[in-house]
Amino acid sequence: GGRRRVTILGATGSIGRSTLDVLRAMGGREAFEVVALTGMSNIPALAAAAREFGAQLAVTADPARLDELRRALAGSGVRAAAGPEAVIEAAALPADWCMAAILGAAGLAPTLAALRASATVALANKECLVSAGDLFLAAQQAAGAALLPVDSEHNAIFQAMAGARAAQGVERVILTASGGPFRDWPRARMAAVTPEQAVAHPNWDMGAKISIDSASMFNKALEMIEARHLFALRPEQIEVLVHPQSIVHSMVGYRDGSILAQLGPPDMRVAIGYALGWPERPALPVERLDFAQLSRLDFAPPDEARFPALRLAREAMRAGGLAGATLLAAKEAALDAFIARRIGFLDMAAVVEETMSRLAPFAPATHLDEVFAADAEARRAAARIIDARAA
Ligand code: NDP
Ligand code: MG
Repeated sequence: GGRRRVTILGATGSIGRSTLDVLRAMGGREAFEVVALTGMSNIPALAAAAREFGAQLAVTADPARLDELRRALAGSGVRAAAGPEAVIEAAALPADWCMAAILGAAGLAPTLAALRASATVALANKECLVSAGDLFLAAQQAAGAALLPVDSEHNAIFQAMAGARAAQGVERVILTASGGPFRDWPRARMAAVTPEQAVAHPNWDMGAKISIDSASMFNKALEMIEARHLFALRPEQIEVLVHPQSIVHSMVGYRDGSILAQLGPPDMRVAIGYALGWPERPALPVERLDFAQLSRLDFAPPDEARFPALRLAREAMRAGGLAGATLLAAKEAALDAFIARRIGFLDMAAVVEETMSRLAPFAPATHLDEVFAADAEARRAAARIIDARAA
């Protein structure tokens, strides 16, 4: 009995808005008691969602927007707060289920707080496991929280393991990748790609930076590291397969030769709903696949000469410790430089590789402060490498 207490960190983003949609589909205020919603710059959306669900607390990460949030919530009974510390405090309120969907490094401390305060954390923020997987899993185990993956590939693997994170007899996992818009382009043509070309993405509706990460396959590189931590895999157990239709969201290969896959429409609400309903499957108002209409599903191995991000991920997994944080920070710096047209598309991987080889070997991460320090050091090193290339 009783309504489930839920919190959404990053409620105004793409994942956050889809999560609100899933809450509506699964019974809305009758079924859920919203403890806290957090956002950053989109105050109207934050306030509207907090009013709709009768949230106890709404928080903007931007301290300069507290007055605006207070005005937007006037008379609603929703408490308002602002600033990064207030986001962490919201995450630390007891809840049955918390969606961790803040973008980037800003999500690390709130997600860690949520692991200590919530019975279940649905994890969208992939940066947590990429930059500090050991630390987050140690916190999860200490708190006894359930950690459920929302990234569609990892959610698919979790489903193919029947809702477990360490199924018996798993030999390998196969992460599918759309391959992005340059899937079949020759290397010379890829070198001249513009940010505008890289943003066009065929299947999923995504933000500009995520689209470029998809085109370079750095998104898949991050997901390999994420998978290693989530499912306690060795690097050589993680394969990547290009699948342009984005219908098979990932697969698990077992020791008897069986492969279990999860298929579905390219709609994040399926993954979010599985994490919210788990261990049961909720009814969701999403598109139904019609196999008679799907003329074909294609698969091809990725070309690591044109997509070196995959090799760099494997090297980071083998190096361990803060290698993931270093790869992620160098990738962010290189991505910004590409968007600013200071370096070319293929230079992004070269910058990451050079940053990693300059900063190796990598210490283990035992505290978030060390992760932030490694992030800053990698960005400084990458900036010097970018300056030298752009000159
Ligand atoms: P969005 O950029 O759409 O949303 C990010 C959310 O975080 C917004 O609520 C935003 O607030 C908030 N936010 C931004 N900066 C800060 C900050 N400094 N402090 C606190 N909150 C902040 O991102 P997505 O929803 O697309 O992605 C969220 C996470 O999920 C990412 O880690 C991403 O990699 C991952 N993910 C996303 C997928 C997708 O399909 N979108 C798929 C798989 C993983 P506001 O908008 O109000 O400024
Ligand atoms: Mg994904």
